Amino acid sequence: MTRPHCPVPRCPRSAVRIGAVTIGGDAPIVVQSMTNTDTGDAAATAQQVAELARAGSELVRVTVNDEAAAAAVPDIRERLAAQGIDVPLIGDFHFNGHRLLTKYPACAELLDKYRINPGNVGRGRKRDEQFATIVEIACRHDKPVRIGVNWGSLDQELAARLMDENAGLPEPQSAVEVMHEAMIRSALDSAQRAEEIGLGHDRIILSVKMSGVQDLIAVYRKLAVRCDYPLHLGLTEAGMGSKGIVASTAALAVLLQEGIGDTIRVSLTPEPGGSRSQEVIVAQEILQSMGLRSFTPAVVACPGCGRTSSDYFQRLAQQIQHYLREQMPVWRQRYPGVEGLKVAVMGCVVNGPGESKQAHIGISLPGTGEIPVAPVYVDGEKTVTLKGDSIAADFQRIVDDYVVRRYGVASGSPNGG
Ligand code: SF4
Repeated sequence: MTRPHCPVPRCPRSAVRIGAVTIGGDAPIVVQSMTNTDTGDAAATAQQVAELARAGSELVRVTVNDEAAAAAVPDIRERLAAQGIDVPLIGDFHFNGHRLLTKYPACAELLDKYRINPGNVGRGRKRDEQFATIVEIACRHDKPVRIGVNWGSLDQELAARLMDENAGLPEPQSAVEVMHEAMIRSALDSAQRAEEIGLGHDRIILSVKMSGVQDLIAVYRKLAVRCDYPLHLGLTEAGMGSKGIVASTAALAVLLQEGIGDTIRVSLTPEPGGSRSQEVIVAQEILQSMGLRSFTPAVVACPGCGRTSSDYFQRLAQQIQHYLREQMPVWRQRYPGVEGLKVAVMGCVVNGPGESKQAHIGISLPGTGEIPVAPVYVDGEKTVTLKGDSIAADFQRIVDDYVVRRYGVASGSPNGG
């Protein structure tokens, strides 16, 4: 699976190690996520971190916004270790990070990376001192830092200064261009200051998140040519449901296709009662559908039409998709390469057999007026025809057998166990 190389002269980008994960260089693009629990509630936070990690998040960020949150980090780490989960944890700091990291050294030690928002470190001279304190602690504990600029909390002193400078130019830039420049300068100036304080060049990741798709694309394109730090991509405040998914995908796909971006987060607002892991699934699906990484077996399903008068095939496609995703925490270990499996669930004979033959396993369900049988294709060959009430269970069994047979051998055990 090839990663597009950035056409800008600053590639490949430097590589930053975070625990067992590498961001940048030639490493695969990393999926990350963020909890929305009260970090001070160690049990709830550990549970959500575990859920996100099991869904495939390779890094998980938690807000460290007060003393209770900083004090809870060792407990969270312990609870995760008890479940066998060692996903790197990132601490998100705003306003009081310098105080919390100083007062809670175990928090500073047990987090794997710190995120600093240069717009929320402090004001005036205090900002420089507080920024320096966090960076010095990162140096002491050998932690990487993401300098994460956000449109909503851009350093207003910097923005105002650039606006003033721009107004005095013979040919001033537009206000939008000046704001883009302020985002980039905030990130690059902060990175330079961090290096002057002693943080290694290979311990810095940058992000310049914005909420507009075109703004995000423009600002990352400019940033990519001006540094070789690895870049964290994300459309901030993407929103809820299909709006958030589409906007994030539109922005990230353009940049990823240009080779820009080393780690991504999809900032979805969960539906009330919805799972936080949705943002991990969307991030994985962006990368997988672009052919940049494989995470979960793909289910190809036709959209259905007037030939599918019942929702049976929709339910079967959904059931198989859920089943495959649920198996992945175990299958990933037991059946190496299973994430490349392709399963087709098709609604009738028009495209059913053709698409099924292109997949590793495919089923073509009977459309309206067709004989109520469902031919199954394995590696392009028709192997069996299913009928009756047990089509779904029988098909799932065929998928299970195929996974054991094809991917279990690679694990060195005849049954893949
Ligand atoms: S495969 Fe059949 S049911 Fe599915 S969209 Fe095509 S014609 Fe309609």
